[in-house]
Amino acid sequence: MKRSPAADLADLLHRLDGRGYPAYKDLQGCWELDTATLFIDHVQGDPFASPSRVRLRVPMARAGFPRESWQPDGRRIGLVNLLARRLAFEAEGLQSHRGSGRSGTIALRRPGQEVLERTSVVCTAGWVEARLTVGLPAAGRRILGGEAAELLLADLPELGRRALLYSSYDPAVIRQAGDVNEDAQALRGQLPELGLVAFLAEGAILPRRSGVDDRPLPRELAVPLQVPPSLRVEVTLPHAGRIAGLGIPPGITLIVGGGFHGKSCLLQALERGVYDHRPGDGRELVVTEPSAVKVRAEDGRSVQGVDISAFIRDLPGGRETAFFCTDNASGSTSMAAGIVEALEAGCRLLLIDEDTAATNFLIRDRRMQELVLREQEPITPFLDRARQLYTEHGVSTILVLGGSGDYFEVADLVVQLDAYVPRDVTARAHQIAAAHATGRRPEAQGPCGPVTARIPRAASLDPSRGRREVSIKTRDRVTVQFGEQEIDLTALAQLVDPAQTRALAEALLLLRDLQRERERSLPELFDLVEAELRRQGLDGLSRTPTGDFASFRRQELAAALARLRSLEIVRPGAAASAR
Ligand code: ADP
Ligand code: MG
Repeated sequence: MKRSPAADLADLLHRLDGRGYPAYKDLQGCWELDTATLFIDHVQGDPFASPSRVRLRVPMARAGFPRESWQPDGRRIGLVNLLARRLAFEAEGLQSHRGSGRSGTIALRRPGQEVLERTSVVCTAGWVEARLTVGLPAAGRRILGGEAAELLLADLPELGRRALLYSSYDPAVIRQAGDVNEDAQALRGQLPELGLVAFLAEGAILPRRSGVDDRPLPRELAVPLQVPPSLRVEVTLPHAGRIAGLGIPPGITLIVGGGFHGKSCLLQALERGVYDHRPGDGRELVVTEPSAVKVRAEDGRSVQGVDISAFIRDLPGGRETAFFCTDNASGSTSMAAGIVEALEAGCRLLLIDEDTAATNFLIRDRRMQELVLREQEPITPFLDRARQLYTEHGVSTILVLGGSGDYFEVADLVVQLDAYVPRDVTARAHQIAAAHATGRRPEAQGPCGPVTARIPRAASLDPSRGRREVSIKTRDRVTVQFGEQEIDLTALAQLVDPAQTRALAEALLLLRDLQRERERSLPELFDLVEAELRRQGLDGLSRTPTGDFASFRRQELAAALARLRSLEIVRPGAAASAR
């Protein structure tokens, strides 16, 4: 790309002053400022449209981040998230109202508590780059050239100085961002050899400020995590050294305790434990098996071609459950489908909370067995399958359940939260189970059976809308517009950042393209998408560089695809010609 000097940009803006907004298109290109290179990748159509996309790139020789601050990768991701946060903060301070509509805005989405690979800041050996949006200034639809010059030639370089230079940071903060992230990754990596599916460090702060504020509850209000001696595990981390925490082994773990004693909060920390957290979050050393999936009831969702017969069979009207399809799932069928889909996507740990689960999916007690006969109840409760999921599929479960003791005998571990303090009550729970039999009859008939790798029909993944062959948009974290359809991701507890949703939406298109090339099963498609992302990085998901993407897991990709209402699955055994 041709690089033009900053003086040319100043001249151009001077000439553009007073002209109609579309003339701003001439800015597109690459400009060599004194301290940085400015790429103007996309120019908005008018001052009210979504803002223009620019990249501010500072050569590493000038930015000065020492190699050990961005290598290896775990450190780089910590650094990039730190820089993104600072950039977002400084951009907010620098932007000023410079005319109509969005004139003068400078923005970069502030990362949440989770530390993710993201494209808003890119750090390579040669340079560090911030990807921002700016509102090019105008009065009505007339270009304000002078304001634009200030925005592009003064504000942006100033932003670079404040947030893209090593010297603008406390070196200890940079080091910490790398250390914390590397420790979390090392810890998660050690889970298998420790024989654990989750680890929560002693002293971790699990509660959040509020349901809409993910920052930690202030120290003086939070009870730091305590570790019962029987569950205490010690590990050595590269930076934090020897630490202790509560280890949860594979199998079935039950979290019990009175209402408001912190059960859901603990489970939420485990849901998020598949991601790393920023220093100061409180959950930096709370890590979970990376494939863990939170499953919840989601009545009304669509389900396409899922074999839920391990949990549900003999539906009224003889509806098939080995290839279950519905546009309007019930609480229990949505949970059954969610579990099977999770397994198909490689999940090895299920996380379930009574607060968001269908009761009839979890339990069916003796009295109910007497009243509603086995033949009259399509559901085989999770209670009767949890053990098999572990023995047949190696899938563990952590279940929050304060409302029923029927799980005592199937649980390998029972943890009680008592005013936020965990206690190992396994022995007592087993004693109680022996003393007070539930009297219920087990209801599983035969094994869970294998999980089939389903094949989606390429034609059912249609991203076209009107005359546009591809129309994919996202609204916030929870909605993907895929062609004519809206995918509702509200129930995905582990999709935490709108940038993940953005990337995931593009990955759905990639998946569609792969499927059109040659028919493959879902796990194969997820493998291929992951391989492609490893090869090209998140940038491979768009033609022009964007700062909008953050990394996501295959589990969320699978869950999003499963919620595409047009999805069609090839019926097992159907002749290829009939497809
Ligand atoms: P449960 O699921 O057991 O009913 P929650 O997990 O919803 O309880 O927690 C109830 C309240 O207690 C929430 O407002 C939560 O923020 C708070 N809380 C949870 N854990 C702690 C803790 N360790 N210290 C202080 N407050 C906590
Ligand atoms: Mg709860």
